[in-house]
Amino acid sequence: MNLLIPGPTPLPPEVREALGRAMIDHRGEEFGRTLRNLLEGLQQIFRTTSPVLMFATSGTGGLEAAVVNVLSPGDRVLALSCGMFGERFASVARSFGAEVIMEEAPWGRGVDPQQVMDALRRHDGVRAVLVTHNETSTGVTNDLRAIADAARGSGALLLVDAVSSLGAIDLRADAWSLDVVVTGSQKALMGPPGAVFISVSPNAWEAAKAARMPKHYFSFAMARDQLASDAAYTPFTPAIPVVYALAVSLPMILREGLEARFAHHRRLARITRTGVQALGLALFAEARWASETVTAVQVPAGIDGKELRARLLRRFGVAVAGGQGALDGRIFRIGHMGYVQEAQIVDALEALEHVLAELGHRRSPVSST
Ligand SMILES: *Cc1c(COP(=O)(O)O)cnc(C)c1O
Repeated sequence: MNLLIPGPTPLPPEVREALGRAMIDHRGEEFGRTLRNLLEGLQQIFRTTSPVLMFATSGTGGLEAAVVNVLSPGDRVLALSCGMFGERFASVARSFGAEVIMEEAPWGRGVDPQQVMDALRRHDGVRAVLVTHNETSTGVTNDLRAIADAARGSGALLLVDAVSSLGAIDLRADAWSLDVVVTGSQKALMGPPGAVFISVSPNAWEAAKAARMPKHYFSFAMARDQLASDAAYTPFTPAIPVVYALAVSLPMILREGLEARFAHHRRLARITRTGVQALGLALFAEARWASETVTAVQVPAGIDGKELRARLLRRFGVAVAGGQGALDGRIFRIGHMGYVQEAQIVDALEALEHVLAELGHRRSPVSST
């Protein structure tokens, strides 16, 4: 299958092989060595000297961990949102009793950093700003660096959902003073689903001491202390196959180099955007916000988006994602992150051309945006 959904993403053959290895004692030295190597290697991807923690959970579990470890019920947070994942982050904070102030951008665009600065001036005592680096539901990348600049000096912690960006789009935890950065194993890091990785800044560790939101499994302090101990390395049973997998994919990423990885994703995104526009389809995201890891495409009027995707899959083995929430049926999304290769995109564009013709779409090329 040509898997082009925005996560889980295709796996390199070496990684698939690693997934078949025998289990070992997760309290044993060998596993401890592998895990510590992996988490240290990940510091290079997060661009941080702070420790990176791991939890066995999906990306959303990582967002929950970020929230509950640094905040207390009643804390005021500013949630920046331009799509479903921004809403999800806000909703996690609300579930644990935060007072959430929403700052929204129209879907298809990113959040304006000036808007963030104004909101932080308007509202006193904001403890944390929540931001989605790459909004997977709309194919939009926020200007994280400018948002971090806007938030700096406000005293608020910056919590970042980087699940669909880290390893594919530039992010610098230390240089941009990002306090908690969450990513998942199953997107640009070329692993299967099952683990999240989280960097925690000194300021966030300080905040963690006073944070009173309930937590047990997701305790940062417990994860850090266990990792440093000689007896056991994780408080609970880790996702051992995911660690095996990432222990193979991470060196691949580091060997290629981050800049080369970013360039690879830029190239895939360009081919995708140019290709769908040449077929007469319009992009959902405005050009200046267009993501390098996922492209959202508008379903043309008169075409059934569900049928379009079903035919791509049935006839050509091409799997793309639909729209989420209010965008259900209005867009489809092509993921191009992680181990996706150019040939897969070209193949998908050819399949799309066939299916569009079958469904009676008359091509009228949209001017390139
Ligand atoms: C994939 C993704 C997540 C994680 O979703 P899960 O289904 O919980 O793994 C979170 N945020 C963004 C931006 C994502 O793309």
